[in-house]
Amino acid sequence: MSLSDHFLATICSGGVEKRRGNPSLMHEELKADPTEASRIPNESRIQILPSEVIDQIAAGEVVERPSHLVKELIENALDAGATQVLIEVSDSGRDVAVTDNGRGLREDELPLALARHATSKIQTAEDLWRLGSYGFRGEALASIGAVSELKITSRSRDRQSAHQIWNRFGKVSAVEAAAGNEGTRVHMRELFANVPPRLKFLKSETAEFGQIKNVVRAMSLARPEAQLKLKIKSKLELDFPAQTNLQQPGSALESFRRRAEAVLGVHLYACESDQNSDSNSHQGLHVQIAFAGPQDVSGQSRGIWILVQDRWVQDRSLQQAVIEAYRGLLMHGEFPLAVVRVSAPPADVDVNIHPTKSQVKFRDASSVFKAVNRTLRAAIEAAPWRAEGERAGVVAAVRGFAEKSLEVSAPRRVEDFTRAYERSSIPPHKVSEAHGEGLSYDSMPVNSHLRFQSAELDRVSFSPKADVAGPVDMGIGTGVWSKLQVLAQAHLTYLVCQDADRLVFVDQHAAHERVAYERLMRAWREKSAKSKLETQALLIPTLFDLDAEAADQLESMREDLSALGFEVERMGPTQLALQSLPALIKESAAIEGLSRLANRALAQGSSTSLEDAVSDVMARMACHSVVRAGQALSVSQMRELLEQMDEFPLSSFCPHGRPVSVEYPLAQLERDFGRRV
Ligand code: ADP
Ligand code: MG
Repeated sequence: MSLSDHFLATICSGGVEKRRGNPSLMHEELKADPTEASRIPNESRIQILPSEVIDQIAAGEVVERPSHLVKELIENALDAGATQVLIEVSDSGRDVAVTDNGRGLREDELPLALARHATSKIQTAEDLWRLGSYGFRGEALASIGAVSELKITSRSRDRQSAHQIWNRFGKVSAVEAAAGNEGTRVHMRELFANVPPRLKFLKSETAEFGQIKNVVRAMSLARPEAQLKLKIKSKLELDFPAQTNLQQPGSALESFRRRAEAVLGVHLYACESDQNSDSNSHQGLHVQIAFAGPQDVSGQSRGIWILVQDRWVQDRSLQQAVIEAYRGLLMHGEFPLAVVRVSAPPADVDVNIHPTKSQVKFRDASSVFKAVNRTLRAAIEAAPWRAEGERAGVVAAVRGFAEKSLEVSAPRRVEDFTRAYERSSIPPHKVSEAHGEGLSYDSMPVNSHLRFQSAELDRVSFSPKADVAGPVDMGIGTGVWSKLQVLAQAHLTYLVCQDADRLVFVDQHAAHERVAYERLMRAWREKSAKSKLETQALLIPTLFDLDAEAADQLESMREDLSALGFEVERMGPTQLALQSLPALIKESAAIEGLSRLANRALAQGSSTSLEDAVSDVMARMACHSVVRAGQALSVSQMRELLEQMDEFPLSSFCPHGRPVSVEYPLAQLERDFGRRV
């Protein structure tokens, strides 16, 4: 079980990279033992370090923090084939016990488990490239034992009784008989008691426990078929039951989805890369993604979990692949919730580039990026976003609207009326500064609150069997919106429409914004004459200034911009002239948008993030250019708007993620009027 020197060099090179690359860590190691530093003789001779020193240095890398060693211990349990893992922590993470029902260790294996570079998981350097286990360095238990009091109690499947062994701060005891069930319990106490400086690096108890919870969550996402339980100070904090009772085809994805749902605590959808037709299958690449709808968002990118070969990794590029797939669905500063699980042939991924194995390196990173991005984008475009919760909010909103409409008679009630509607019709978490201008009632004359502009009488038919066949699924497929019958414009803001089985309210600003945005993005993406937007040439070009760098950047994007309908010419070191622009964009919005675009492209560089920047800027330009709330529309204008919405998928949210429409099912109306119970 002991590994050859050459082979060790291969394994440890990951660690060396970190030592070399991170001066602060070297610093930290030196500081870790001040007495050691003072003992260094002036005339240093090169010498092999004593093994306790080596152990402590290595321990510094593997067990920087309690959560790291919790991860190592869970990994060992899973590598041993455990289906149940109990993690118990206390004392700010300095006391950790992990109990599993895995295959266990025989008494003669116990001392080896504690020896450095002793592992049962690989034998040759080639094995590193066909790794099927989490562990491979044979370092974790030796490292943890060097800085704590570690006890392993284990009963192998082929043994009648259990045995135990201690590693107390590097001193390994003899093996003794002990009581214990089949499986292994590793108990560590007094972490860093022999390295007091390290204790200072521990964070607060809350912070350490928080990290540990995240590690347990991540491992649970990686292994839906195992049960993981976490107790903090004897209190059960997390419990994810095994997802194994599913036998049907496709059940692996469903188990993963359910586990992800349990871990993230929100409703999730799931998708996976196409195994048959895709180019992915040649490369043996497989991607599973569990993802939330745009109504469940986070303020941070930490809600995006990335697992590669069932290891939780920090990979900004794959996070970006997820964020981009939500392009146009989230507001600025919002991040999606998702779990991405990538498995690639072991030879295409190097997991040995970081001591804590929290990073991986792909042989072909861009094809992995594409596989994640495309799989998710396709699923998002086909997703039934109108979640039940939102529908419930909508029904309440419309009911409130109806009640208030009947009550309003005196002008002083107008304000209550509009406030009630405003409050109830927007999901509270979606109200943000991004949309202030679109929804402001304050900017409208008071009288217009009450105006219910009716469409021409001949268009108004309240027959539930109007010229549509229902039920239809809005937002996906084509012809859905234009099939709606327009009844009126309410509050100069909402189109009131109906079809066979419901009333549908459409926010005119959000709808128009979605159309403008999608047209711009289509033109940008296709860059072909066919999708070229109608443009408007300016008789007198508008001059604007940027700093020299941004001006260079914009000039370098001239061709792409021209495909969109923006003709920009460089006039001087800092001056540019806008000569034409897409007809659907307002001039003021265009100039603001172009300078933003130049600055964002400068800041980000790569072409994938450029796409993101364009998307963001287009959404903004669209928002500032389209019809506002409070603008009267004729029936034909309203119908035109609905027809335009059918040009694109995903029409049920505006680019900022606000819903474009809300609906009131006829059945609900009938219940509310007591015609139905
Ligand atoms: P690695 O996991 O890299 O092999 P470790 O130091 O974590 O190194 O573990 C050393 C060895 O001890 C493992 O290779 C394995 O054989 C054994 N071992 C550790 N934990 C367990 C466990 N929970 N159940 C069974 N065997 C274990
Ligand atoms: Mg291990």
